[in-house]
Amino acid sequence: MIQARWIIPVEPTSVTYENHALVIDQGKIIDLLAITEAEQKYQAQELKILNQHALIPGLINSHTHACMSLMRGIADDLPLMDWLQNHIWPLEKKWVGEAFVRDGADLAIAEMIRGGTTCFNDMYFFPEITAQQAIQHGIRAGIGLILIDFPSAWAINSDDYIDKGLALHKQLKDQALITTPFAPHAPYTVSDEPLNKIAKLSQQHKLSIQMHVHEIKHEVEEQIKKTNQTPIQRLHQLGLLSPAFMAVHMTQLNDQDIQIVADTGTHIIHCPESNLKLASGFCPVAKCLDAGINVALGTDGAASNNDLDMLGEMRTAALLAKGIANDASAVPAQTALKMATLNGAKAMGIDAITGSLSIGKSADVVAINLDQLETQPLYDPVSQIVYASNRQQVTDVWVVGKALLSSGKLTRIDQTELMSRVQSWQQRLKN
Ligand SMILES: [Zn+2]
Repeated sequence: MIQARWIIPVEPTSVTYENHALVIDQGKIIDLLAITEAEQKYQAQELKILNQHALIPGLINSHTHACMSLMRGIADDLPLMDWLQNHIWPLEKKWVGEAFVRDGADLAIAEMIRGGTTCFNDMYFFPEITAQQAIQHGIRAGIGLILIDFPSAWAINSDDYIDKGLALHKQLKDQALITTPFAPHAPYTVSDEPLNKIAKLSQQHKLSIQMHVHEIKHEVEEQIKKTNQTPIQRLHQLGLLSPAFMAVHMTQLNDQDIQIVADTGTHIIHCPESNLKLASGFCPVAKCLDAGINVALGTDGAASNNDLDMLGEMRTAALLAKGIANDASAVPAQTALKMATLNGAKAMGIDAITGSLSIGKSADVVAINLDQLETQPLYDPVSQIVYASNRQQVTDVWVVGKALLSSGKLTRIDQTELMSRVQSWQQRLKN
């Protein structure tokens, strides 16, 4: 039993319970009720009292490249194509392998858990290693089955990527914490033929698809020059768009694009800080929400953000949406919190399992201590969480009822040992 000063279930929307308890059995939420009633009704085997804290559903980072955390800060203040072609891709060519992915994923997972993230949706080479680390550390993850037109240390051509991806899907099928969406990199790096295959295979194997789409102006302009369509229009024609498709970024959208996304039930994964840092453009979030589109949030990789901080991402999303819509009521705090939790679960197809503190769902829970100078006085806990709190206030994190962070300490990761592995990569990459 977790007793808390506030419980914000996210579903139903705009509800905050005061002095309530969350009752957990076998990893699932079995009750949510007033503390006084809970004490009469249940005999808790384990009791956690958090009387200065708010409980929220675990944050869902709907798009990241976990192991790129090892390249945090290595090439900043550059536009996307320069950043990718002259810095990130050459570094990846030289260094990416199993050890890089393992250590980078460990760093990212540790950072995410400390910031209240209980689930991440990944896209990177050697996905089997990221999956293995996620399982080991007990965090939920979507492990993207990456596909790109050029060879890498992981696969030689598109058929090889698809074959390895499907083999990994089969291998991970029974892992309760893992899903395996296809992850074709972007419209400008994956040609029609492999995309046609993905469209068929995703239906056949009931797998989602996540893809960078409309990240920058250049990508959209080039596609229009080639086919007289925007990238989203091309993907629609290829039969890719559906409620199983997660379109990441989605800047430079025209009204027709928004209509297509809404009509097909496609999800948008908004990564505001990465878009700002790379000056990629803006996703018109308020317009998309008004059109009925499910918009979730991601940090993108730590090489373009540069943190994996979903509390920060919520704040940026809420602020940026207001600026773009020229409307202070766009993306209120409650909506930002929903985008970072339930909407992410919906996008990943796991909203029956997680995304809100609802009876029957997995106990993926985060406690935030609001009794700090930074979040006082306190009139509305949701406002404080979205607009004023920081990651240091996250004290406890559970996934399937298991504590991954307890009173601010990682329970399964040796921080000192991890730091030394990370610093050794720093030496290698710097040279
Ligand atoms: Zn990305």
